[in-house]
Amino acid sequence: MQVTAIIAAGGRGQRFGGGQPKQLLSVGGRPILERSVAAFLAHPAVSEIVVALPASLVEHPPDYLRQTVKPMHLVGGGARRQDSIANAFRAAAASSDVIVIHDAARPFASADLIARTIAAAAESGAALAAVASRDTVKRASSPAADASPAEAGRHRTVIETLPRETIFLAQTPQAFRRDVLQAALALGEREGLDATDEAALAERAGHPVRLVDGEATNIKITTPEDLAIAEAIAAQLRIEDREVRSSESPVDSQSAVRNPQSALRTGRAGTGYDLHRLVEGRPLILGGITIPSLRGALGHSDADVVCHAVTDAILGAACLGDIGRHFPDSDPRWKGASSLDLLSRASALVAAEGLEVGNVDVTVILEAPKITHHVDAMRAAVARAIGIDASRVSIKGKTNEGVDAVGRGEAIAAHAVALIRIKN
Ligand code: MG
Repeated sequence: MQVTAIIAAGGRGQRFGGGQPKQLLSVGGRPILERSVAAFLAHPAVSEIVVALPASLVEHPPDYLRQTVKPMHLVGGGARRQDSIANAFRAAAASSDVIVIHDAARPFASADLIARTIAAAAESGAALAAVASRDTVKRASSPAADASPAEAGRHRTVIETLPRETIFLAQTPQAFRRDVLQAALALGEREGLDATDEAALAERAGHPVRLVDGEATNIKITTPEDLAIAEAIAAQLRIEDREVRSSESPVDSQSAVRNPQSALRTGRAGTGYDLHRLVEGRPLILGGITIPSLRGALGHSDADVVCHAVTDAILGAACLGDIGRHFPDSDPRWKGASSLDLLSRASALVAAEGLEVGNVDVTVILEAPKITHHVDAMRAAVARAIGIDASRVSIKGKTNEGVDAVGRGEAIAAHAVALIRIKN
């Protein structure tokens, strides 16, 4: 199935006042138009994009409309929204099966929302995103034709209270099978209809229009007051974006960042593993604590398998690579470094991403000596390095029942699991 996305950005934002079109204003450091276009550019279901713009912008488009990964057509907007859409429709590929239309002023539509609107239109011919009304809805008397807005407000009275469960507030995206949109636009043209959205024209053309669940965050930025709400949504998405970006490949993340549901707010797990040979004449350091032992772990550093496994688990949960990447033993800075110090440095890297460690659980595998009496000291030292309470660090000892190198006392190993989450 081939899908063309039309972004309606032809408006001049009269309700905003000021000089530049509102779709060029930035929210969270990024132009509203760029955000709206990026949602469709990154969407796997969309094959090409047509953007309807004010004429001045068609001549001098911003960079993000020029070097794009998918075919992009820029067309001039018309006097009314439906004129802009008609212009854009003419530029859409004739081979497109579904056309999905979106207001540039809605920069936060998620990938899921776009997907379900397209799917519903492919199935039923026409579909639009909509949210149920949370407020009770009143139908009021029409103001006198010559009334000022203030007067109209004073003189209006309620005619009836509408049953709220039947009231839905239309958003975009709105998607249509090509033939359905063509017929709707032609009807609007023929009968001189003035519609605020394309679904209204499809309805008038007698085509059933399906509702799909919209999103409360999919707001339309219409007035300066909306910008403050948009900034708050952008800030929230940035936190989730950071989480998702660190967990997905760069290609996937483009669509994932637009999907608030895909961010794991409850936490993310990481695992770590380490093994070192045991030799005579070396100290045995575990969790920063020196344990009396005939043999110690061989390594470039203090060869602390507990700290190494925990460091990898924490970095792994944050998708920040591993201990070798941040603290390579080829770098003289880390020669002889305390592994507790590396653990606290890794924890700082994680904290810099806006994340914190929830808890850590470690299993140390060695034949001898028993570590039971040292476990609390190890937990306290590891917890201090991470910057959390010792109650959130668990360390357990295990033997390998005499099996393999670890069982023969030739090596020591450790497994760790860490949970991280967004810092409150
Ligand atoms: Mg190691």
